[in-house]
Amino acid sequence: MNRIYLDNNATTMLDPRVKQAMEPFWLQQYGNPNSLHSFGTEVHPEMSVAIDRIYAGIGASDDDEVIINSCATEGNNTVLKGIWTDYILTGKKSRIVTSQVEHPSVAHTLDWLEERGVEVVRLAPNADGLVTREVLAEDFEPEKTALVSIMWANNETGLINPIGDLADFCRERGVLFHTDAVQALGKIPVDLQHTSVDFLTFSAHKFHGPKGIGGLFIRQGLGLTPLIHGGEQMAGRRAGTVNVAFLVGMGLAMELAVESLKNQNTELRSLRDKLEDAILKLSDTFILGRREYRTPNTILASFKGIEGEAFLWDLNRRGVAASTGSACSSESLEVDATLRAMVSDADLAHTAVRFSLSRFTREEEIEEAIKAVNDTVERLRSISSTY
Ligand code: PLP
Repeated sequence: MNRIYLDNNATTMLDPRVKQAMEPFWLQQYGNPNSLHSFGTEVHPEMSVAIDRIYAGIGASDDDEVIINSCATEGNNTVLKGIWTDYILTGKKSRIVTSQVEHPSVAHTLDWLEERGVEVVRLAPNADGLVTREVLAEDFEPEKTALVSIMWANNETGLINPIGDLADFCRERGVLFHTDAVQALGKIPVDLQHTSVDFLTFSAHKFHGPKGIGGLFIRQGLGLTPLIHGGEQMAGRRAGTVNVAFLVGMGLAMELAVESLKNQNTELRSLRDKLEDAILKLSDTFILGRREYRTPNTILASFKGIEGEAFLWDLNRRGVAASTGSACSSESLEVDATLRAMVSDADLAHTAVRFSLSRFTREEEIEEAIKAVNDTVERLRSISSTY
């Protein structure tokens, strides 16, 4: 049986070109870049190429900083705990504003900070599931607010927040702005030259790079207490020997992801729409979030009368990999906060299944997936006591 991978918001396949680019750094060019001998210095040119590709990919300028780290969870922790140390523990400000639909790497870090006295304001998205300027403006108190942290695109629904506008709103009021851009990069344009974002986090494994490496953009001139202390790597902003192979992989993955943006909006979007249209032809189904507000690869579909876990198991038996709730919480199969914020309790009693495609998804796979969804819905509804 051919397996069909429709869980690309959880992680993506390594692009074979990225795998190839990383190859020399295991057995030949394995030196520590901080060493003075040739094993150390010979990796510098390829590290520079990778860094240049990353800066170009997000539109950072030479004066900005991109800290290479282990993942977006680390980047989000670095920003939130750094702001706590620099602005809140010092008594300059007291509040961090965020939304109710952030990834656990932001939401749970803020829960932890709240237990330590930080005032955390969690905004509910509007009826479209978006955090807009109007949502942010209500009761906004710039003199108290150290940071606003709003994700660029949501991992469950694919809904895209108007980050340019939110960042401008904060800049106009002298408040720092952070965005978790993990689900935006490689799906929609992310250009920091024309966006007043101060901190931005990303992760290579979401755009066909390796797992275990990510980056944190810090706007030029902004200080931020590091999360990890030790050696002088990253100019003292993040200690720890850089994983050269992964950095080279992330650089190329970033370049390829940006190059593929056009494809995302044409071929990939039309495959996504084909699957979405087929789901909507089934009775009693709906999709969360309007199509035009979503990343081109994501569908979060609700099927009345079907229990989510049973649906996923059935799809999995037929070789189709999808997900329900965030992959990070799927051991407990918790309902994600995004869904809780957008959907009524009655609808939540049913299910929300996420299908997320990638530039490697093929049309035949979508056709197979449509058959699997149709058969599974029919079978489960025929045995459901609530349908
Ligand atoms: N932020 C969002 C929106 C995500 O979707 C994820 C992963 O699912 C993360 C952060 C965490 O990324 P990482 O696996 O690099 O820690």
